[in-house]
Amino acid sequence: MSPEERGRLAAGAREIGIELSGAQLDLFAGYQALLYAWNERLNLTRVPPREAVARHFLDSLAAARAFDLAAARRLIDVGTGAGLPGIPLKIACPGLHVTLLDATRKKLAFLDEAIVALGLGGIVTVHARAEDACRQPEHRARYDVAVARAVGPLGRLAGWLLPLVRPGGVAVALKSANVDGEVADAAVAIRTAGGRLTGTLRVRIPGEEVERTLVCLAPVTRAPGQRPKVGHRGATGPA
Ligand code: SAM
Repeated sequence: MSPEERGRLAAGAREIGIELSGAQLDLFAGYQALLYAWNERLNLTRVPPREAVARHFLDSLAAARAFDLAAARRLIDVGTGAGLPGIPLKIACPGLHVTLLDATRKKLAFLDEAIVALGLGGIVTVHARAEDACRQPEHRARYDVAVARAVGPLGRLAGWLLPLVRPGGVAVALKSANVDGEVADAAVAIRTAGGRLTGTLRVRIPGEEVERTLVCLAPVTRAPGQRPKVGHRGATGPA
């Protein structure tokens, strides 16, 4: 990672509200190097290396605008692919336990190697289909935050992400800017999955002209003695 990219990453993260140390910037540089080394033999990303800071790293970090990153303890990234947004969020918040779930084994091989090479702890990969994992006791209602980027339509994601979230937690779908139609189409699926739309948050990715929308969902059930909420920071929209 060039000094210029490093500067853009640090400044962009600060704009999102995340202060990255030199050691954390080194981890991003290491992750970028591994990602593009593996990309030569595995189809991990079509984003050129010079655009990775904005389109992968800052875009991933911007997901934290939808929840309190410091308060979250367990996060699952469903359909993580090359580790996006899970690895950037893990680097930004070392105390966060992160589960990277994907149905494609060869992508998990990359992630397993990256985790070791970067020396990350408190992060695991899971080879599973989301529709199966969301029914398994080791995953069901076990996460403060469930995120997904570029994995499927919102209605399908609602059925996968909401069962993974504990009462008081939040599911966040990273979507392109215009989601009104998709949100309307997903209304029944969200209700059927036992959730509600808590907000849609428009965010501008630092260094990018484009905006994206974070669609925030929450399970409606409330267990007695639940932990304090970690989600819904600044989200707006219908409850
Ligand atoms: N989230 C990453 C990103 O933003 O770069 C990867 C996006 S990629 C377009 C979609 C990923 O979702 C793929 O790695 C694919 O294997 C995974 N995926 C698709 N359907 C899935 C399912 N039902 N269960 C688990 N993973 C799935």
